[in-house]
Amino acid sequence: MKDFLNDGDNIKQLVESLNFKEKVERSLALIEKAYQEYGDGLVVANSLGKDSMVVWDLAKRVSPKIRGFIVTTRFKPAETVKFMNDLVVEYPELEVFKCDDEIPDELYKTAPDKCCDILKVIPTRDAIETMGVGCWVTGLRCTEGRTRVDFREIESRDEGLLKLNPILIWNEREVWQYLALYKVKVNPLYAEGYRSLGCAPCTSISTDPNERDGRWIGSSKCGGECGIHTRPLKVKLQENTTSA
Ligand code: SF4
Repeated sequence: MKDFLNDGDNIKQLVESLNFKEKVERSLALIEKAYQEYGDGLVVANSLGKDSMVVWDLAKRVSPKIRGFIVTTRFKPAETVKFMNDLVVEYPELEVFKCDDEIPDELYKTAPDKCCDILKVIPTRDAIETMGVGCWVTGLRCTEGRTRVDFREIESRDEGLLKLNPILIWNEREVWQYLALYKVKVNPLYAEGYRSLGCAPCTSISTDPNERDGRWIGSSKCGGECGIHTRPLKVKLQENTTSA
């Protein structure tokens, strides 16, 4: 991925200067280059949100063989669960990971970071380990909210694990532009007014300016992160239970 090690690029400038077609081409080139290098070790993380559906579609254009994983939780809305089940039938190469461990009632209220750690971060680590992932591909975008401005298109935060954010420089309008132009299906909850989707107790419809402002409203995590983009992911599975 040396050609794309773009630490020198001004991400904000790329967001503003590239047009829709140029961004699509750049994203496809990033995935293609990574796929040439990592082959089956390149795996797409699909959160079932609009951005993930763009990345999933782009990846399928690069190669129908590209695999993916979904991390789900007991708190996902029924609409998201149905959307996931339909998607997995359509794409059997999507594997679902979930933690069914017992946790305290309403942990999402008393300790949301811990709840996300147990229900989201640990299954993500599990997916990366189980699927032999060398490069994981995400739908993260730098214009989604305050916690996402400092990411890069290519990151190597975890040793032995590359992270590719191929639509980092897309804005919200371009995501919807792509979904409409290429007729990609989306979670029906967007029609209700949501702009960012997560677990039911932690996701609200918000008219605040940032896309992620409806996440974890009323907690210290408001508009923040579940942890899969900020916590180490290459941790031995047996260490997960003690560190959570
Ligand atoms: S989003 Fe909420 S319910 Fe879901 S894992 Fe995080 S804290 Fe728990």
